Amino acid sequence: MRAHPAGPRHAEVLPAAHLGGPATDLNELDPTIWPRSATRENGVLHLGGIDVRDLAAEHGTPAIVLDEGDFRARARGYAEAFAGGDVFYAGKAFLSRGVARWVDEEGLHLDVCTGGELTVALKAGFPPEKIALHGNNKSRAELKRAVDENVGRVVLDSYVEIVRLAAEAQRAGKTVKVLIRVTVGVEAHTHEYIATAHEDQKFGFSLSGGEAAEAVARVLRQPGLELVGLHSHIGSQIFDTSGFEVSAHRLVGLLRQIRDEHGVELPELDLGGGLGIAYVGGDTPLDVGAVAKELRRIVETECTNAGLPVPRLAVEPGRAIVGPTGVTLYEVGTVKPVETGSGTRTYVSVDGGMSDNLRTALYDAEYTCVLASRASDAPPMLARVVGRHCESGDVVVKDVWLPSDTVPGDLLAVAATGAYCRSMASNYNHTPRPPVVAVADRTSTVLVRRETEDDLMRLDVG
Ligand SMILES: *Cc1c(COP(=O)(O)O)cnc(C)c1O
Repeated sequence: MRAHPAGPRHAEVLPAAHLGGPATDLNELDPTIWPRSATRENGVLHLGGIDVRDLAAEHGTPAIVLDEGDFRARARGYAEAFAGGDVFYAGKAFLSRGVARWVDEEGLHLDVCTGGELTVALKAGFPPEKIALHGNNKSRAELKRAVDENVGRVVLDSYVEIVRLAAEAQRAGKTVKVLIRVTVGVEAHTHEYIATAHEDQKFGFSLSGGEAAEAVARVLRQPGLELVGLHSHIGSQIFDTSGFEVSAHRLVGLLRQIRDEHGVELPELDLGGGLGIAYVGGDTPLDVGAVAKELRRIVETECTNAGLPVPRLAVEPGRAIVGPTGVTLYEVGTVKPVETGSGTRTYVSVDGGMSDNLRTALYDAEYTCVLASRASDAPPMLARVVGRHCESGDVVVKDVWLPSDTVPGDLLAVAATGAYCRSMASNYNHTPRPPVVAVADRTSTVLVRRETEDDLMRLDVG
């Protein structure tokens, strides 16, 4: 995740790209952006074969709808593309017991990074040996629990954690399989990556500074820890494999150094997650099969050159599996045209906002949306979809063309909200968080129910 570079967050002028009007019919659903089951029937958006007006009537708004078939297909696609390796679904993107079961049924492993995420996984009956525990500041209690529950992999992130985990392993009389998180000096976002010698961030052990090699030496001295491999995660929303190439090159360099210095050939290499998805038109996600082939080719070539056996590959997609499968349904509350100085922008307020989708405020993320409860032939208006919270940065979709007859009571659907929306949701302004509803074969199932004011008041014990 990145902090967005400083700059004008919400330009005062209308964006140049929008001055010419919309490129496509406003009722159209771009299949690279919307879930696989999204269709319009008699003008109304359907998800999983269900009319969104029925979904809104049954579950209320805002609601996050997950296309189960799409989720499973994407998970399966990853498992097939990386056959012979392991795919860990990054639970932080969105995790519930139901989703953990889908992940298990489709043959994937699972990444968690807190005791809370671990609890969800274990309560779902997820096999602990297929769970990896991440985090730059895992508590002693979390490490102890990972050992007691026989979590399959712990990804080590600091020297002090090596000692703490080794002590827990010794106490339990167990051997814990670990990977070392290496910061390889590659930072990748979208189409660009930066390769540097130094890493100025909180995660992992620096490769160039020698900390990664030192961590390897320390882990190898701990009888309760079994070093099985190296891990690296270079960024998010990546559309290009070149950053992975540099990362793999540097990691294999360390594998070779470990073999030369310690006589140990590590069997696993985890290249992390970060593959991008289409949020708006023009975003071009990579094909998973092609990525898998390319990563395998890079690692095989590098290992052959180094005279090393090819390790088992692991990847950790979160967004790329759950992101495109989610749609947030909102009801329009107010429609307010505002003069900007260079034209009119219409502020469309919906019944959620930064409490259910923080990404626009946090990263200047882009989204798109459509009028979902009906088709419209009205001329387009340039709109900004905003939430109901007490922040001017409470924006859901910064710039979008909507039909100019959009009125209070209409339903809007925002695409690609499956990842990092519900999982980052807050109770800002004492707003109960929205439900997550799975749809498949004309049936909707609540995965996470809507929070109520009673839920919130239960915590207010003073
Ligand atoms: C966040 C994260 C992921 C998942 O990233 P996506 O962009 O959702 O694919 C994978 N691995 C690690 C270590 C992460 O921190």
